[in-house]
Amino acid sequence: MPQQPLAQVPLDSKWHWQEDGRCRTVDPLLFFHPQNERGSSRSRRDQSAKRVCAPCPVRLECADYAIRAREPYGVWGGLSEVEREAIYRKIDQPRGSHLTSVLGSGIAAAKGLVNDAISDEALGIYHSTAS
Ligand code: SF4
Repeated sequence: MPQQPLAQVPLDSKWHWQEDGRCRTVDPLLFFHPQNERGSSRSRRDQSAKRVCAPCPVRLECADYAIRAREPYGVWGGLSEVEREAIYRKIDQPRGSHLTSVLGSGIAAAKGLVNDAISDEALGIYHSTAS
């Protein structure tokens, strides 16, 4: 995983899962867009990062960490910045879930959004319907 400041990391976070991350051998720039990158360029970058994340053996641990730590930048666990912001808004609703430092609480709060983030559509994979 590309390195980020640890200031917001929940105290119980364990980082051993990073040893198995598929992104360890990938250019970090794939996961962190340049300032002001928008539109199709950013979408393509996010999709490329998601394709690395989709089969990653520690994807859920990574997504859980990123949600609980409220990582503001980059693709983590297949979740883009925009997707994580949507999860944070849901969590912050008056009757929303409340994150704790407990491992797994980020995934629980996000519910299906973590898997939606690596759907074929999210990865930019489209199947022909022609027979
Ligand atoms: S899920 Fe993605 S960002 Fe997280 S460790 Fe795996 S490859 Fe890296």
